[in-house]
Amino acid sequence: MTITGAAKIAGVIGWPVAHSLSPLLHGAWIEAAQLDAAYVPLPVAPDNIAEALKALPSLGFRGVNVTVPHKAAALESADEASAAAKAIGAANVLIIREDGALFADNTDAIGFMAGLADLDPSLDRPAVIIGAGGAARAAAFALSECGVSEVRIVNRTLSRAEELAEDFGASAVDWARREDAVSDASLIVNATSMGMVGGPPLELNLDAAPSDAVAYDLVYAPLETPFLAAAAEQGLRTIDGLHMLIGQAEPSFEHFFGRPIPRGVDARGLLIQALEARA
Ligand code: NAP
Repeated sequence: MTITGAAKIAGVIGWPVAHSLSPLLHGAWIEAAQLDAAYVPLPVAPDNIAEALKALPSLGFRGVNVTVPHKAAALESADEASAAAKAIGAANVLIIREDGALFADNTDAIGFMAGLADLDPSLDRPAVIIGAGGAARAAAFALSECGVSEVRIVNRTLSRAEELAEDFGASAVDWARREDAVSDASLIVNATSMGMVGGPPLELNLDAAPSDAVAYDLVYAPLETPFLAAAAEQGLRTIDGLHMLIGQAEPSFEHFFGRPIPRGVDARGLLIQALEARA
């Protein structure tokens, strides 16, 4: 698709950024909506991030998605921030206002909830989040906002679990007690990086998990992680990380291009194809 000199420009900033699926996803939406627009990858090394973010308004960007490792820096550099970005302590979207001011938002919590929407687990029993990094913070914020009865945070480094639990009215659980923690759970979320392609799996025995619990893995490469495979074998319902990835991208697109995503794009199919081509 061709663009003109008046094209609306957005992108994704990360380091590295070559693995990001966002250009593919936003590009497909731009094409289907026949927008005069482009969404470009912006590899920016950590030493250059402050300078790069400051330059975005003068380069005419409408906004950018922000990925690892720049999400905290993006929030710090913003002139204003949404309640979600402040609570999570990170921004995955920067919107450039007409006066050049940077507005930070975080759509990861919306994306997390979008993943839950299809299965709609009853959250009247505890939700367990495994991990205490950025993805876990977004999940904890989302669950605290929707009034889940109890959220437990389990993390290898207990002090990080305690810090996150305190921020969101949750409880922290020692790593050694993770199997006990899931024994009465309605939702079990893997928000660690364990199970990613080429890495070791999450070590979690699900024998004690209730049969109606939902297992949700935020990792999306591979699509079926060892955690989800074990959960499915146990008869639990499962949600993979692509739901959250697509769910956080949709409001980003609206921020950048001022309209909802177009209908008729098989975003999930497109991303699965891209992931399979990499495998
Ligand atoms: P992060 O901030 O670096 O946090 C990593 C987490 O994994 C920490 O809790 C860390 O525990 C834990 N961990 C790492 N190695 C471990 C090990 N060997 N044993 C036990 N725990 C270990 O990363 P993040 O940004 O939260 O991302 C986490 C995962 O979520 C990544 O796979 C990422 O791709 C995925 N994610 C997916 C989406 C989506 O849209 N689907 C969005 C965001 C992130 P310690 O605190 O002990 O180090």
